[in-house]
Amino acid sequence: MNPLHTFKLGDFEVTIISEGNVFGDPHIVFEGMDENRWRPLTTLDDQGRMVFGLNIILIRSADRLILLDTGIGEPSPARERFESMFPFSPHLPLLEALDRLGVAPDNVTDVVYSHVHADHIMGTTVERNGARVPVYRNAKHVMHRADGGTVPERADRKANFDLHIPILQAHGLFHLIEDAHEVAPGITTIHAPGESPGHILVRLESLGQIAYYVGDLFHDPAEAHHVDFAWPGRDAQAMVPSRQHLIARAIDENALIIVAHTPFPGTARILRTDGGIDWQVVARP
Ligand SMILES: [Zn+2]
Repeated sequence: MNPLHTFKLGDFEVTIISEGNVFGDPHIVFEGMDENRWRPLTTLDDQGRMVFGLNIILIRSADRLILLDTGIGEPSPARERFESMFPFSPHLPLLEALDRLGVAPDNVTDVVYSHVHADHIMGTTVERNGARVPVYRNAKHVMHRADGGTVPERADRKANFDLHIPILQAHGLFHLIEDAHEVAPGITTIHAPGESPGHILVRLESLGQIAYYVGDLFHDPAEAHHVDFAWPGRDAQAMVPSRQHLIARAIDENALIIVAHTPFPGTARILRTDGGIDWQVVARP
């Protein structure tokens, strides 16, 4: 499998990078949810597991190189914790992918975090000569205020936050953003809490073409059909309106959806049907 897919969205060049696949037990993921509601909608592998992608987005615009999330990074205690919860099968580490694409980390101008969870921020810093340093030394790193303004309460998330964010802060690279933030012309964020308090979507629009990077708003199409499905530890009450809002906009605008964790390249369109919606996977946008 080629773990890189590049396409044009108007004037933007968008590349989706697959760091690998992660596997989950659907009975844990959908704990407390009626199996009859998710089973017909969810694809399982031959071991009965859900297969999740680890998709990272690189956008080239006229004068910017923008990364949406930074993946799971190099081996670290935080990554070991993550892999102990979610078995991981690697495709292409992000830094190798950037090298193949001819992108030097120093040339990345912006890093936008969908949210603070480990698999989206671990690739932000690396250990070099015994010290942790930022990977993207010239990039403005932005996170919604509700995720980045306070240290997470859960111990595993706090450890991960403490490993990376203070390094960025010490280098003056970390910035908190409000609900609707313009990253660059045609690229704006939308606050969509639920997966975390500060979870955001990134809307791309160029020459009439529209896409939404939705991060972890959905991990599986079943969650678009049943917007009340929420993983353990998420805020289901906040998630429902966030999902309803995105689904309505995506249908109205005929927008492409790019998801962090549906199988690579994680792209889909949501269509309205008589009884509800249809989630159509777009294999190669
Ligand atoms: Zn995630």
